[in-house]
Amino acid sequence: MSIIVQKFGGTSVGSEEKIINVANRVIEEKQRGNDVVVVVSAMGKTTDGLVKLASNITSHPSKREMDMLLSTGEQVTISLLAMALQQKGYDAVSYTGWQAGIVTEAVHSNARITEINTVKLKKSLNEGKIIVVAGFQGMTASGEITTLGRGGSDTTAVALAASLHAERCDIYTDVDGVYTSDPRYIENARKLTSVSYDEMLELANLGAGVLHPRAVEFAKNYQLPLEVRSSIEKVEGTLIEEEATMEQNLIVRGVAFENEITRMTVFGLKNAITGLSSIFTTLAKHHINVDIIIQSQTEKNCTNLSFSIHEHDLGQAISVLEDNKQTLGFTHIEHESGLAKVSIVGSGMISNPGVAAEMFEVLAEHDIIVKMVSTSEIKVSAVVDEQNMNKAAKVLHTAFDLDRVKVEQYSS
Ligand code: ASP
Ligand code: MG
Repeated sequence: MSIIVQKFGGTSVGSEEKIINVANRVIEEKQRGNDVVVVVSAMGKTTDGLVKLASNITSHPSKREMDMLLSTGEQVTISLLAMALQQKGYDAVSYTGWQAGIVTEAVHSNARITEINTVKLKKSLNEGKIIVVAGFQGMTASGEITTLGRGGSDTTAVALAASLHAERCDIYTDVDGVYTSDPRYIENARKLTSVSYDEMLELANLGAGVLHPRAVEFAKNYQLPLEVRSSIEKVEGTLIEEEATMEQNLIVRGVAFENEITRMTVFGLKNAITGLSSIFTTLAKHHINVDIIIQSQTEKNCTNLSFSIHEHDLGQAISVLEDNKQTLGFTHIEHESGLAKVSIVGSGMISNPGVAAEMFEVLAEHDIIVKMVSTSEIKVSAVVDEQNMNKAAKVLHTAFDLDRVKVEQYSS
């Protein structure tokens, strides 16, 4: 008998009716003769609501108590789903993350799974039970409750699927697959039949909210096929696997974008050798995430350094740098906010030179100024003015033939 892991996100379990609908989807899989393990998120916006509750009490909640609080959201869903399955005559049992044997490192609010002890799960599966597991949570070796970071239920599902040697892991969500771009902004965005792990990892890290990046990493490490599908409509979703089928020989498979980016420039850094590391060490110590970095030598043998950060880190970045101006040894800093990052992603870039050139040509044709650039083997990102973000995404989507991806829908 094959084991199938199904994961249902917050919107898919947002009400009692939706939970009953999920129970039906679970039963369909069970009736196909499979063993089923279901992972669920907290109902609707429950987790946000819990965060809000804490903020009404304190602006500095301890991370341990936040994990204690947030882990309750998923427990509500698992019990209700197990009840819904039982009501329909199926033998089901719900387990919290720790009951399901999920052990994590001792880090609150963003823990990684270190081990899964599957004895209990296997026993329940052997007894023919449908197992419902709370996503997003685990326990440290010393018995502390932890959570896996926002969106972490995906990771729970993939990790369980890997350790149970499941045949597949299906991620059910409120969209019916992975799209060439965000359909809310790009009207010609199309659903993809398949995406490779590496492409999905880039897209997830570039803000495509459909999957938790760590879940994709896990799936890649264990070569576990993932499918993103709709919890409402019964249509084929998007398969995430090692080698995606080359959809009409697409070189670029997705256009991602995000706004609220600030470019900071540190002028006149005197000691380029130690200066570079001390600037970024100082920022890292204050948990300021730096993305694109550009270094340039000036005539006076000084270095200017530009880097991009999220807009919400700006205030802190300025004060941290100003406070350490003497030791860091620079003359002054400037910043420009209101920027956005537009990226094209596709494994086909590895074997096709000139993709970045074409991207810049298209942006230039539409009078879109590029302020910073970064690349990987399968990605090119350009920082542009925020008001040009949607336009840039749209023209790139068209230029790289994504408007014409064949829309395929089959019922399953
Ligand atoms: N409930 C958690 C969150 O909202 C985990 C998840 O949904 O994956 O982030
Ligand atoms: Mg999610």
